[in-house]
Amino acid sequence: MTETGAQDVQPQVDVVVVGAGFAGLYLVHRLRGAGFSVRAFEAADDVGGTWYWNRYPGARCDIPTTDYTFGFDPELEQAWTWSEKYATQPEILRYLQFVADRYDLRRDITFGTRVDGAEWDDAAGLWQVRTSGGETVACRYYVMASGCLSVPKEPDIEGAGRFRGEVYSTGRWPHEGVDFTGKRVAVIGTGSSGIQSIPLIAEHAAQVTVFQRTPNFSIPAHNGPLPAERVERLRADREGYREEAKRSSMGVPGEKTDVMGVTAPEDVRRQRLEAAWEAGELREIYGIFADQGVNPASNEIICEFIREKIRSVVSDPATAEALCPKDYYFGTKRPCLDTKYYETFNLPHVRLVDLRSTPITTITETGIETSGESSEFDAIVYATGFDAMTGALVGVDIAGRGGVPLKEKWADGPSTYLGLMTVGFPNFFSITGPGSPSVLSNMAVSIEQHVDWVTDCLVALRAGGWTTIEPTPTAEQGWDRHVADYAAITLHPTANSWYMGANVPGKPRVFYPYIGGVDRYRAACEEVVERGYLGFRRTGPSGEECVDGVVRRLQPDVALVLEAMGELGLPPLHSLPPEQLREFMAMADADRPPGPEVGGVVDGVLPGPAGDLEYRLFRPSSPGPHPVVLYFHGGGWVIGNHASDEPFCRDLCVRSEAVVVSVNYRHGPEAAHPAAVEDAWAALQWTAAHAIELGGIPDDLVVAGWSAGGNLATVVAQRARDEGGPVLRGQLLLTPVTDAEMATGSYRENAEGYVLTSELMRYFWDHYCDPAQRTDPAASPLRGRLGELPPAIVVTAEFDPLRDEGVAYVEALRAAGVPVEHVAARGHTHTSLTMVGVVLSGAPVRAEIAQRLRALFREPASV
Ligand code: FAD
Ligand code: NAP
Repeated sequence: MTETGAQDVQPQVDVVVVGAGFAGLYLVHRLRGAGFSVRAFEAADDVGGTWYWNRYPGARCDIPTTDYTFGFDPELEQAWTWSEKYATQPEILRYLQFVADRYDLRRDITFGTRVDGAEWDDAAGLWQVRTSGGETVACRYYVMASGCLSVPKEPDIEGAGRFRGEVYSTGRWPHEGVDFTGKRVAVIGTGSSGIQSIPLIAEHAAQVTVFQRTPNFSIPAHNGPLPAERVERLRADREGYREEAKRSSMGVPGEKTDVMGVTAPEDVRRQRLEAAWEAGELREIYGIFADQGVNPASNEIICEFIREKIRSVVSDPATAEALCPKDYYFGTKRPCLDTKYYETFNLPHVRLVDLRSTPITTITETGIETSGESSEFDAIVYATGFDAMTGALVGVDIAGRGGVPLKEKWADGPSTYLGLMTVGFPNFFSITGPGSPSVLSNMAVSIEQHVDWVTDCLVALRAGGWTTIEPTPTAEQGWDRHVADYAAITLHPTANSWYMGANVPGKPRVFYPYIGGVDRYRAACEEVVERGYLGFRRTGPSGEECVDGVVRRLQPDVALVLEAMGELGLPPLHSLPPEQLREFMAMADADRPPGPEVGGVVDGVLPGPAGDLEYRLFRPSSPGPHPVVLYFHGGGWVIGNHASDEPFCRDLCVRSEAVVVSVNYRHGPEAAHPAAVEDAWAALQWTAAHAIELGGIPDDLVVAGWSAGGNLATVVAQRARDEGGPVLRGQLLLTPVTDAEMATGSYRENAEGYVLTSELMRYFWDHYCDPAQRTDPAASPLRGRLGELPPAIVVTAEFDPLRDEGVAYVEALRAAGVPVEHVAARGHTHTSLTMVGVVLSGAPVRAEIAQRLRALFREPASV
């Protein structure tokens, strides 16, 4: 950290920008327009960024140019016409040069100059930015527009430095071009760069040998004229079109599908697969099925479809098989768009070397040796990718407050607020940084959104008299968690991709971009501003302001479910009479996924005090006998039955390897309290007495329940203690009702918006239990004697009106000396944990519950 000690050191410019690609150019334009002085530094000799450096044959965009283009100025769009659907690198470079000329941007850019370091001077509130030209520039704000894919990966292959022939890297291609005529060329790498360049290199070279470590999924680009339908839409309503792009998930307008791969009829599947193949667009191929990114079975349909296509094009079956990706899910590595890539392998002078079966042992002075062969080459082309997302950021010596290097702060992976800023580095921004949609989107749209956000932020700082801005640790941790939560429900973390940092040896393995989509991301950024720069601390001569908080706290899929429910425009559930509420719940349950396969399901009845009680038993597939879980369903003592929580019961059965007996009980208002308790008590006695017939281990019995069922479970646990049996191993209470008072903080905080509302809970109590009886421990078990109860697993959900009474029960049990495991489900609602197969983020919580349950079963009985 630089400490001038002087409060009155003045910046030489307001903003230093690093990079002059799409992002740097638009930054210079916008900042200048907003009245800020700017200096940009660019290592290259001219503008263009990606399109300056990546001049390899075949380099093109893979988002159609109707969309991969600046949208901020309608006149610019009038002044430039793209020549094809996917423009070539020279054309995109010409476009960026045209933009630089049109807005006279070069006068603020110093070319051929790297930024090597930047230190935050806390006393002066300035960044000191050092360049390779020996300059140090003091600035108030420092913005890295240094690119997500701008640092080519160093060749990490034994002997790489020894080769005496020509060596090329796709990411640093010579400006004068390369003539491969008559040459023996090796290409290492089959990502997008390799897949684009190999067919063109093969047009001239005498021999092309492709060294493939991992085959890629590629679909034909079907390049040609600009898509007529989109040109027409742009002509008719340019602004509407661009707005739709901003509110889309990828930054390209288009409908989202709700067709699920696993359940769609075969003809619908086929039609969607072929249509995407024909469209030759990432947007289409990413959107074939709504569940392709999260459901392995759905994803596999796409994988196999593409494999079929590969096999139908490539004549040699062994080569075709080697070109078929088989060990990662479609989309978890960036898919490619190609022009005659697979066809190229039918040419007599093109050969594939599969490094999976014969890895490279070394590069020699004259060629490449694998475990299977030794070949000589005139040229080697490295198409081996980039140190993506963070390479350019940590490539500069950036030291924040206290001299802490960014590289050190991010040693275990990047930590950011909105991918824009990071704690400890005031006034430092990154454009399309890690934690933002960036590389998962149309970058032109994402870059504009980031540049606009940063510029507007600086304008707001100036207007408010603030001189520094920095995220709070709470906000940053919250965002990091949200980014990770989103990735965790997708298939992405399973792949060795550059999205996961897996391509660079030693790089932290985390999911770098934000996968929530351009639309949701933009909404979060906008909300932060609307809430007075939520999660930021701003300081200035007249003091400071901090609106601390987390912008996204719900689990992403819980939020999606709530949104979808909101769109249905349902009446408030508490406004429905019980009969209608029951019908509605039954209808909603009819469409849900059934839950996992179990070893067997048996329906039966057991005697209750007022007639038979139905039960449904779920048996594990392993040979028994098993521990037994007697389960009471949720539904506010008013709705539900022995089958209404079936997906959850199946899940519990599989994960905990226990027989789960889900039993019905009488409901209010028809049979008011204590009818349900009496039924639950009868069910417990009967289950304990019939454990062996049920396939259970006697004395290995747990009572369990969700919500009102949790209330019944703990009420009968208290009674079993008082009446000297049955002996229980424990009690599993999932978001239980423990007290009738309804006055806790969570009743207010989570009163509305999370399915179980405070009003609905009131409705349940009113239909279940006379107010005079509610203080009875058989209705409000929190008020009962808790000592000597069996061990408990209590699950609470963050966004549940019942959260605090669950927590109170945990604390009261602990105070009474009862062993308790508390599972606090972050970002979940009262109903989300039981939505098996819908809310995927519930799975790790259920896994934890099951693990704790198994531990209970293993312990010697305590009561
Ligand atoms: P860049 O264009 O990478 O520019 C960053 C600049 O910063 C570079 O010129 C670099 O020299 C400079 N720089 C970095 N560090 C320093 C430093 N310390 N000092 C000085 N200068 C520095 N995205 C899409 O959305 N659609 C596509 O079709 C698409 N095709 C692509 C094709 C290729 C071959 C590649 C590699 C990427 C592609 N991308 C595509 C991603 C592409 O990188 C972005 O679309 C976009 O061009 C990024 O612009 P940028 O200004 O953020 O970064
Ligand atoms: P990439 O996708 O990372 O591909 C690099 C390739 O090199 C992979 O096949 C990789 O194999 C291989 N490789 C890396 N190190 C290797 C080693 N030591 N030995 C053998 N093989 C090795 O990089 P890219 O092709 O440059 O593309 C990067 C990204 O840039 C793309 O995903 C895309 O976002 C963008 N891009 C877009 C276009 C476009 O079509 N518009 C074109 C180029 C790039 P593994 O997979 O086994 O690691």
